[in-house]
Amino acid sequence: MKLSLNGATTMKADLTTDVRAAAAAGFDYLEIWAAKLRDYLKTHSLSDLETLFSQSGVKPLSISPIEYVTFRDAPAYTQIRTECEELCAIAEAIACPYVVILPGNFPPGGLSSYEVIEETVSVLRELASIAERHNVALAFEFLGRKDCSVQTLELADEIIQKVNRRNIGLVIDSFHFYVGGSTIKMIDALDSKRLFIFHINDAEDLPLDQLTDAHRLLPGLGTLKLKEMIEAFKRIGYDQVASVEIFRPEYWERDPFELAREAKAAVKSALLKS
Ligand code: ZN
Repeated sequence: MKLSLNGATTMKADLTTDVRAAAAAGFDYLEIWAAKLRDYLKTHSLSDLETLFSQSGVKPLSISPIEYVTFRDAPAYTQIRTECEELCAIAEAIACPYVVILPGNFPPGGLSSYEVIEETVSVLRELASIAERHNVALAFEFLGRKDCSVQTLELADEIIQKVNRRNIGLVIDSFHFYVGGSTIKMIDALDSKRLFIFHINDAEDLPLDQLTDAHRLLPGLGTLKLKEMIEAFKRIGYDQVASVEIFRPEYWERDPFELAREAKAAVKSALLKS
């Protein structure tokens, strides 16, 4: 599997630092944090960005994320489509294969899974058409928290199969996988072609309903069953990319170069153990 660093892991570093830290640590890819990209483009051009990547030897994997794409009112949804157009155009210009998109929360009153599937399939088809014009693919990431409309791999995969476009697939994030109650059986049922990115991270030993993004840890330092997940990926033939994505405020205070080096060693060792 190729290795990637996600810009959320080093949240306080800017995009230039992320590219350099990922390169210095020996990562193959960087997932570009969208807010850092917007800051960067205030004072740089897209061709500067291309040069930054090509000189570093690291490749862009994704621009991430467009949040809450579903269950939005009309003005907010127009904004989502605009954001999708904007990020896909940038991704195309710098040869970045994916843009990561996230489901919205349940509207008040909740919904049946039929209604979630209907809304999500229709939004993803529309966004996939925008991405297609830019030769970019969308990676849809389910979130394990209780207010999210798509919490499990099973539901996310059902949606992706119904969308049925070549340029739409899944992100599996180990934190969301366990917090939302997904199972190894769900990975075994997956066609690896539909899995685009594996977000790898560990988490503190807390009851699932108390875990938040801030409790994420480097792979190997927590209690998530990463070995089982990685073995299941091997069984289904998934060998694309593992990307270290951690939202731990304590890590954000650290030197990004040192953190990137530790992240690379941690992901490498997690993959070797499996
Ligand atoms: Zn993730």
